[in-house]
Amino acid sequence: YRNAPPTLREAISQGRQYGEKTFVTYEDDRWSFDQFFAQVDAFAHFLHQDLAVERGHRVAIAMRNYPEWMAAFAAIVSIGAVAVPLNSWGSAEELEYALDDAGAKIVCCDEVRAGLLQPRLAAGTIHAVVARATSLPADNCTHWAQAIEGGRELPDVSLSPGDLAMIMYTSGTTGRPKGAASTHFAICQALYNFEFMATVSAMLNPEAIGHMLNAGFDPSTLLAVPLFHVSGCYSVFLLNLRGGRKTSIMYKWDVSDALRIIERERITTFTGVPTMTMAMMSSPEWDQYDHQSLFAIGAGGTASPPHLKDMIYGKLPHAYPGTGYGMTETNATCCSFTGEAYKLCPTSSGNLSPIVEVKTVDTDGRDLAEGATGEIYVRSPTNAQQYWNNAEASASTFIEGWVATGDVGYIDEHGFLFIVDRIKDMVIRGGENIYPIEVEGILLGHAAVAEAAVFGIPHDSWGEELVAVIHSTDPTLSGDNLASWTKEHLAAFKVPSQWRLSREPLPKNATGKVLKAQLRGQWLAEG
Ligand code: ATP
Ligand code: MG
Repeated sequence: YRNAPPTLREAISQGRQYGEKTFVTYEDDRWSFDQFFAQVDAFAHFLHQDLAVERGHRVAIAMRNYPEWMAAFAAIVSIGAVAVPLNSWGSAEELEYALDDAGAKIVCCDEVRAGLLQPRLAAGTIHAVVARATSLPADNCTHWAQAIEGGRELPDVSLSPGDLAMIMYTSGTTGRPKGAASTHFAICQALYNFEFMATVSAMLNPEAIGHMLNAGFDPSTLLAVPLFHVSGCYSVFLLNLRGGRKTSIMYKWDVSDALRIIERERITTFTGVPTMTMAMMSSPEWDQYDHQSLFAIGAGGTASPPHLKDMIYGKLPHAYPGTGYGMTETNATCCSFTGEAYKLCPTSSGNLSPIVEVKTVDTDGRDLAEGATGEIYVRSPTNAQQYWNNAEASASTFIEGWVATGDVGYIDEHGFLFIVDRIKDMVIRGGENIYPIEVEGILLGHAAVAEAAVFGIPHDSWGEELVAVIHSTDPTLSGDNLASWTKEHLAAFKVPSQWRLSREPLPKNATGKVLKAQLRGQWLAEG
């Protein structure tokens, strides 16, 4: 898009116009846009003048969801340094590995992360700026409040659209997270793309928008996902900053907290992985809170089960559901779908964005005809340039301007994209291809199933067989019940032959995606 801002410095500064409006809330803290930018400017000055951070230096952020995360990010990219958001769920070892990998000498963190990094800080190899700390673990630390003292101005540094702006790690669903390295240009295009898609979606849902405006609700979002992945950082934080909307932060996902904040802050937009929406709407607490302000419910990051949109329309008839497909490596949502269209075609991930090209290729990397199922390749100005420090993975993913997504899908004659599954997750049982996402979608439609993971394990005569691990709190539910439920909806070869029912939630990564590779490994280890 030609009208997209050239660098994140300009993109972010757009939020300055909103002055005293509330930008971010966390528990009892409320920062206006003015207060936010006062911290950004002072912190940028501190990084630049006091810590000598220059264009191209990598500066890590290792913090749970706090307003200071956002201010640190805005300051880092505004002075031309490269922001490296780290997974704050990580162990000391994982954080140290990531800091070394990125070559970051400065980390913006919270007290817990500063504690984990104490040996490094004591050794003097890195410097930490610690937000919300009651005490500092080593000499080589500055308290956030000290760093922003004196309210100094944003330093005047020159940066260009082709400069590296960020290394964003993938969710780590299939293995060790990879750091997708992106320029200012790519991210600014991605922001513009998100804004374009959001406008289209608002135009497609006039009744819901009318309802919201007539009721006097101001657009605002509940941030229920981590800031260190694409959805939290771009589609909530940066979009709301540019659009003058309020963001209410959750420290971590919790159904009761979510409902409490939605009521208190009159939240209008909620996005998360589908299981979050399902858990919230099927919770006994749902009816105890006022959620009339909600008018847009988005689900992404993983496949949405087909019944999800009915659930949303059933619980909130005035609101509209939405879904989309994208990945860290493409920065953008490649396609999205809301309201009526999504209702009519719930298995699609939506219309392609006008700036994103999508094709499918066969196993030899040859282009397939439109409509044919194959690996999805994406070419877009929003694409990351490479994986940081990982030439091997870069070579197999970033191919002549295209990103090889590792996902299987097809584009139908109307231009709608259908994601079938990840290539790695496909199961071949007795010569028949099975895509576990389809089976999980049916299982999640069963009233007693809260979470479902379906995967393949080796089998002597069929090659592979299908296993289902289910989280349910219903003691009467059995594998036999679920096998007959699945058989009602799908061909017999797609019915899992082994079942495990768990009272505990399934293991998930920070985004909330189920770690199937881990479940499969456990299953195989236990024999
Ligand atoms: P890693 O690459 O580290 O294993 P990840 O792929 O989960 O983790 P992300 O970049 O956060 O990391 O997620 C992108 C992936 O999520 C996509 O490649 C796709 O597999 C899945 N995904 C996203 N949206 C959808 C959707 N609508 N339907 C199905 N799968 C989706
Ligand atoms: Mg991936």
